[in-house]
Order: sequence, then C-alpha cells, then structure tokens
Amino acid sequence: MLSTMQDVPLTVTRILVHGATVHGRSRVTTWTGDGEPHRRSFAEIGTRAVQLANALRDELGVVEGDRVATLMWNNAEHVESYFAIPAMGAVLHTLNLRLPVEQLSFIVDHAADRVILVNGSLLPLLAPLLPGMASVEHVVVVGPGDTSLLDGCRPAVHAYEELIAGRPTRYDWPELDERQAAAMCYTSGTTGDPKGVVFSHRSVYLHSMQVNMAESFSLSDRDTTFPVVPMFHVNAWGIPHAAFMTGVNMLLTDRFLQPAAIAEMIETERPTHAAAVPTIWQGLLAELAAKPRDISSLRNVVIGGSACPPSLMRAFEERHGVALCHAWGMTETSPLGTVSHPPAGLTDEEAWPYRITQGRFPASVEARLIGPDGEVMPWDGQSAGELEVRGPWIAGAYFGGVGHEPQVPEDKFRDGWLRTGDVGTISPDGYLTLTDRSKDVIKSGGEWISSVELENHLMAHPDVAEAAVVAVPDERWGERPLATVVLRDGAATDYEALRAFLADRVARWQVPERWAVIPSVPKTSVGKFDKKVIRRQYADGELD
Ligand code: ADP
Repeated sequence: MLSTMQDVPLTVTRILVHGATVHGRSRVTTWTGDGEPHRRSFAEIGTRAVQLANALRDELGVVEGDRVATLMWNNAEHVESYFAIPAMGAVLHTLNLRLPVEQLSFIVDHAADRVILVNGSLLPLLAPLLPGMASVEHVVVVGPGDTSLLDGCRPAVHAYEELIAGRPTRYDWPELDERQAAAMCYTSGTTGDPKGVVFSHRSVYLHSMQVNMAESFSLSDRDTTFPVVPMFHVNAWGIPHAAFMTGVNMLLTDRFLQPAAIAEMIETERPTHAAAVPTIWQGLLAELAAKPRDISSLRNVVIGGSACPPSLMRAFEERHGVALCHAWGMTETSPLGTVSHPPAGLTDEEAWPYRITQGRFPASVEARLIGPDGEVMPWDGQSAGELEVRGPWIAGAYFGGVGHEPQVPEDKFRDGWLRTGDVGTISPDGYLTLTDRSKDVIKSGGEWISSVELENHLMAHPDVAEAAVVAVPDERWGERPLATVVLRDGAATDYEALRAFLADRVARWQVPERWAVIPSVPKTSVGKFDKKVIRRQYADGELD
C-alpha cells in the first residue's frame, strides 16, 4: 500500500526560495581585509541569484545539465552561484584552487565545464590554463583583478556585476527531478586522477537537514557559522546549503586565510560556530599564543577532514574554553559521515573518550566494518576492519565523463556500499574510531601499527608542533614507521627523549627507530598531511 503523502521533489531551489524569504534578514559577511567587511542579506543574495540565473541562461546560453564551474574563495558571490546554478537545472562544479594545475585542467576537461566563474584575484592561476581548456566558452570575472591577463583569450570574458545588473528579478525555476545533478566536486586525487562525485538535489537537501540537527552542527538563525573550510572542499561541508535552510548567518574568509586574519575575524564578528581541518586550528592556536584574542563567542567548533589530535582539543578547551567537536567524512559522503557528540548524561571525564573518537553515524548513514577476509566485523570496539557506508547522501559511483557511464571501481564500491579506505573499530553504542587510512597503516611483521596513534602521542609532547608518521620499507619487518617531527621554536632535537615518551604510551615494538626533523609537514590541497610526499622524500634519501 502506498502512502497518501504528496510527492514533492527535494531540491536546492526550495532551499534557496525558503532562505531568501523566510530567512531574508540573515546575513552573509565577507571579509575584505580593509577593516570594513562586506555584508549582504539572504534576501539580496536570493535576488542576485535569480539575476545570475537569468544572465547565465539569456546571455551565456546555459541550459539544464550544463556544468558551470567556480574557481572562487568563500564569499557572497560564491553563495549566489551555489544556488543559482543548481536551481536553473545546471550543475555547479566547484574547482579546488590549490590543485596542481595539470589536475585542474584535467577536471575542467573531464567535467566539460562550459562556463567558469572566477575571482579576479585568481586570474593569474586560471589565465595560463585557459588555452588548454577546450570546453570553456565563457569566463565570468568576479571582483577586482588584472583582466588584462585574459586579453586575447578564446572564451568570452564577462564581468560578474555587469553581467547580472538590470536582469529580471524573477525566474520560473524549472520543476526538477530530485535525483538530477545539482553539484559536483572532484576528490583531491591523493591516489591517481581526481574522481568526480556528483551530488543530487535530493542528497543536498537531506544532507542539509542533517547538518543543522542538534546531533550534528546544531545550527539555527541565532547562530553565525564560520566555515573556514573552503567552498570547493565538499561544498564547505554542506554549510551554505544548511545555512539557507534555517537562516544561519555566515562569516566568510574570502582570500584571507592566514591565522592572524582568522583570529581577527572571530574576535570582531563573533561567530558561534566554525568548521575547518586540524591544520587551520593548529595555526590559530599558535597565533593566539603569540597574540591573544577573544574567541569566546565560539560555542561549537567542528574539526574534521583528518584525525584531530586530542592534544589540540585539550589545548583549545584549557586555554580558550572552546570545545572542538570531531567529525569524519569524505567527498563521497557529501561529506557528513559521523559527528562526535558524547551520549547524554556523562561527566566531562566520562565524555572525553567519546569526544576523541570520530563519532556516531546519523540515522541515514549505515555502516559496516569489513575484515581482512571480507567478513563483516562486530561492533565491539575491538575488531578492526575497513569502514563501508551507504545512504542517501553517499556516492554509489563516480562521474564517468560526459556521455559515459558512471564508474563503479571494485576497490571503491562493494555490493552497493562505498569502501571508504579508512580502517577502524566501532563500539557497541556506534562510535567510530579510525586508526588509519588503509594506505597509511604500517604493516610491521604481520601486525598493524596505527600512524595516527603515534602522531597523536607525539603531538602531545611539549617539544613537538606537528608529527607525521609513515610506513617505510624494512628488510626484516616488511615495513617500519618513520616519524617525522616539526619541533616547536627553541626545542632541541632529542630523539631518545621522544622514543622514551612513546615507549610509555604504546607497545615497545611500535616505537619508531627512524626519525627525521622537518621544517613543516607537507600538506595536500585541502590542508591535510601529504604522506606520499614524505614517503617520496624518504625514498629519495632527503630525510636521512
Ligand atoms: P581526499 O580523499 O582526496 O583526501 P577527502 O576530503 O574526501 O579528500 O578525504 C576523505 C578522507 O579524509 C577520509 O577517507 C579519511 O581518511 C580522512 N578523514 C576525514 N575526516 C577524518 C577524521 N575526523 N579522522 C580521520 N580521518 C579523517
């Protein structure tokens, strides 16, 4: 028997219309770096999104299904494109501006983007690549920049403000199928070519509801959220869409991502919520130690994208009274996979072991652990396996390119489940603890050593600012850990002391015998430790 409910498609259009009217007074504040931030209401953003959609259709000839890319920082215009492009039935393709240029060209070509919206400050990056980007017909420049760099380029060049000025403020939004593509994002290509993940209207809608829930980021129109995470990194973890659903004010960095600027934004704009990878919070902590600032407005800070060192969590809490909340996800999971809120009714001390896990899955994300022989492992907090997930905002395939079937590689998908490549345990009450990525785990003499566990211990040592541990080949054991450490200013190199420190905390056989002091840990385009660079440096003899 079927229900008697209406069958209304869940679309980004609905989120836009709702946010621009019901929450029309909520605001997006964009940092300008010159003392006076730029403010725009959701109502204004809604109107300008309509004008942008009109311009894209009437002037640039964009039709349903076309890919319209953005190469932009976090700012109000990027929010406008986040809504205008999917609402008109086109597909928003956010380009990661930190990707190596060959990969950037590869993904524009693979997605066959017809239009690129680019911040003027990023023209030096884009202009030299345009001759090789055959699919691109139009470039729309947003904000100031040296447009002479585009002289003589093949695609037609437009200025954003001129393009949308005077356009109609109404648009008959098409009735879309909720399964249609709304947005796409490529993985950062840590292994091989980047892979395209295409989000549907339905997946974005459902994910946005989850982001706002108390069990996740707990956001409402009383909040100002500060997504330092870039809007090209899995839709800034879904925050802009979620914000329009419940009227959450947004504070956006634009291109000002230095720790000093971030500290100043928090002190002056007083956001209640923020989200970023651990590297950003490490940088902010060091900045605050050098120059104290008031960050007390923050009641909830989400940290994810890579494992959060417990020492970082403690430091924020003890020095600034700010609680960090650990979350796990990936491009393929939209990205919200788990969030680490402890169960109700615990003391701080009892809650701590829960808070340092990756957290619990929401009802819409089903999870299982697969052991080395393909067997499903129990949720007993002990048995480790590869995490597999499925649900309405989890990818079931990768974009195969225009006119090609989606790709379902065996190493990434199994019987309708996404193979995450992450290894860990799940407790009986559903808390995920990741010990490693499968490609980072160290297999020493048939036993596994968790690189993350060693790093977390090392980063709790007072002399160590950052630590990255990788597997290196070893004749006797197959692999052994190499510990690379970044020392705090003024600390002397004392490997014996670090070894002794670890020996008190992990099994003796896990303590690395290979060590190197490095000036900084190499980072990927989204600010995570880039372990393949460390492995290569070691192989090339640069770390001896
Ligand atoms: P890429 O895979 O290209 O690095 P993603 O941003 O999609 O790009 O990365 C997802 C991966 O990041 C996860 O599979 C996991 O390995 C890691 N990750 C994300 N959040 C956490 C976390 N809280 N703890 C540990 N690892 C994390």
